[in-house]
Amino acid sequence: MKLSQMLAPTLREVPAEAEIISHQLLLRAGLIRRVTPGVYNFYPLMWRVTRKVEQIVREEMDRSGALELRMPILTPAELWEQSGRWQVYGKELMRLQNRHDRWELLGPTHEETVTAIARDEIRSYRQLPMNLYQIQVKFRDEIRPRFGLLRGREFIMKDSYSFHADTESLEETYAVMCRAYTRIFERCGLMTRMVESDVGAIGGSAAHEFMVVVETAGGENDLLFCDACDYAANVERAESSLDVAHLLAKLPPAEHLPLKKVSTPNVKTIAQLSDFLKVAPSQIVKTLVYRIEKLEEGSDASKASFVALLIRGDLELNEIKLANAVGGVLEMRMANETEIQELAGAPAGFVGPMGLKVERVLADESVRNLTNFVIGPNEADMHFIDANWNRDFTPEHWVNVRLAKAEERCARCQEGHLKAAKGIEVGNTFKLGTKYSSKMNATFMAADGNEMPFVMGCYGIGVTRTAQAAVESLHDENGIKWPVAIAPYHLLIVPVNIADAEVSRVANDLYQEALREGVEVALDDRDERAGVKFKDADLIGYPIRITVGKTIKDGLVEMKFRMEGHTEIVAIPEAIAKAQAYVKAAIDGRPVAVAR
Ligand code: ATP
Ligand code: MG
Repeated sequence: MKLSQMLAPTLREVPAEAEIISHQLLLRAGLIRRVTPGVYNFYPLMWRVTRKVEQIVREEMDRSGALELRMPILTPAELWEQSGRWQVYGKELMRLQNRHDRWELLGPTHEETVTAIARDEIRSYRQLPMNLYQIQVKFRDEIRPRFGLLRGREFIMKDSYSFHADTESLEETYAVMCRAYTRIFERCGLMTRMVESDVGAIGGSAAHEFMVVVETAGGENDLLFCDACDYAANVERAESSLDVAHLLAKLPPAEHLPLKKVSTPNVKTIAQLSDFLKVAPSQIVKTLVYRIEKLEEGSDASKASFVALLIRGDLELNEIKLANAVGGVLEMRMANETEIQELAGAPAGFVGPMGLKVERVLADESVRNLTNFVIGPNEADMHFIDANWNRDFTPEHWVNVRLAKAEERCARCQEGHLKAAKGIEVGNTFKLGTKYSSKMNATFMAADGNEMPFVMGCYGIGVTRTAQAAVESLHDENGIKWPVAIAPYHLLIVPVNIADAEVSRVANDLYQEALREGVEVALDDRDERAGVKFKDADLIGYPIRITVGKTIKDGLVEMKFRMEGHTEIVAIPEAIAKAQAYVKAAIDGRPVAVAR
C-alpha cells in the first residue's frame, strides 16, 4: 500500500468534538470521522484494525466450539413482545414502522431472535449444549453517545448465546467462554481484568465484565479490587464490609434511651445535623425517597409509586442495587420537593419513615445495628434523637444497597481493602438461566422425556469498542502504539526524500521485498518533508518504521519500534527479515527481543 494513494487525512489540531485521548487520536490519525452523533465512517486503516479484532474474536470463538451464524438486524417487534422487552427496553431501542405499519426494530442485541431459533430448531437434549454467535452491527439510541467508538449508536458486537439442558452444562460453557475472552483480549495486545458485574436489565443470575484498566478519562466504569484476594467487581455490584458494623455487632447492646423530639431549625444536610447535634453522621439514619415507575401487571401501562430507603448518614446509596431490590423498575428518580412535602408533610431534610405515605420502606443493612440514633420526624425544623428500631419503627424489608467504596474492607476475604480503578468494558458474560426461554416457550425434550426450557448464557464483545480501548491504553504524546496483532499495517517504509533517486530506489526495493515476503507493509511515497512523514507515522502508530536516508551509502537503514520507542541501525539486506521476526514474535505472544 502506498500512502500517496491512501485515505488517511491526518490532523495537526486536536478536534474539539473529542474529549478523550483515544477519540482525539483516532480523529487526528485520519482513522475515523463522525457522520452523525455516535455514528462513524471507518476509513481504510481503521477498517483493517476492526477486521483484525473481528478475526481474532472469530478464531477464538471457533476454537471454543461455538458456531458462527447470522441473524438479521431488522427484527419484528413480535419477538420482543414475546419476551416482554418491547415494553421495557425504553428509548435505547431503535423502533421503526414499515410500509405496512408493522413495528420493527434495529437489533441492539439478539436474545429474542436466537431463543426463537432454539425454540424452532432444537428438539432434544442430545443436541445440547450449543453456542451460537455472530459478529454484526448493533444499534442503540444511547442517551449520551460519546467518546467516539467507545459509546456509539451504531457499533460492531460479537454476541453469542449458549443453550443447555441444565445449569452444570451452562457453568462449563461459561468457564470456557471466560477463558476464550481472556485469550481474545490477550491476543489483541490488551490487558483485561474480569470483574463481577450487575446483571442489569438483561436479567439472569450472575455476570462478569472484561475491563481494560486505564488511568485516562475513557474509563467509564468504576472498579474495586481487593488488595489481598482476587475479588474484583464493578462498583455497581461491589460489596464491602462495614468495619463499624462489624465492631458494633460485638458490643453489648446499648440501653435504649427514651425517644425525644428536638428543634433543629434550618438544619437540612447530614453534615449540618451532625454539627448541630454533636453526633457522628454514622449515628444518623438518612431517609431517601424515590419515585419509581414499573410496568403494571398484564398491561402496557406503567405505574408510579414512592419507596423510601433508610441508610446510615455517612454512607451512600447505590441506585442500581436499589433498583434491583425493588425489581421490575422502568424508571427511577429521587422524589422532588413538592412530592416530598406531599408524602411527608414536611420539607426534604426532615423526612423519616414514621407515617411517611410511601408504598414501601426499605432499610439498608447499615442501619440494622444502630441504637439511640437520629432520624427525621416528618416535621419541619425538628428531628428525633434516641430513636430505636422496633420500639419507634419496625423496618420490614432489609436490603443491601450501600455503595461500596475504596479503602473499605473486602467482603470476600475480610482481610484486604478495596482499591479503586477505572475501566473500559470490552466484553461481558451473563448466566441468563431460563429468563428468555420460559417467556418465549423455548423448550427441548430432556433425558427423562419432559419438555424443559433451555438454560441459557450470553456473551458479548464490543469489537469496535475494543479497537478504540487499545488506543486509550496504548499511546504516547506522539500518537497511537498499536499492538502488532491489530495494527493496520505492521511495517512502514519511509524514504526521507523521494526526490533522491537512490533513496527512492532502496525504499522501493525494500517495499517490494516486504510484499514478496508477505509482510503487511506501507510505503510513504508522498512528496512530503521527512518531519511530516515521521509525525504521521508516530500518530498512526505503525509498529515498525524503516527510515531510508543518507545512511544507505553505508548500506544501512534505521528501524524504529513504536511500542518500545527505540531505534536500531541495521544492514539493508537484514531489515525485512528483522521486521518479520518482530511481527511473528509479537503475534505468537512471545516477549519481543529488541536491543535497547
Ligand atoms: P455499557 O454498560 O457500556 O452500556 P452494556 O452492558 O450495555 O454496556 P452489552 O449490552 O452487554 O453492554 O453489550 C456487549 C458489549 O458491547 C459491551 O461489553 C461493550 O463492549 C459493547 N457495547 C455496548 N454498548 C456499546 C456502545 N454503545 N458502543 C460501543 N460498544 C458498545
Ligand atoms: Mg449499555
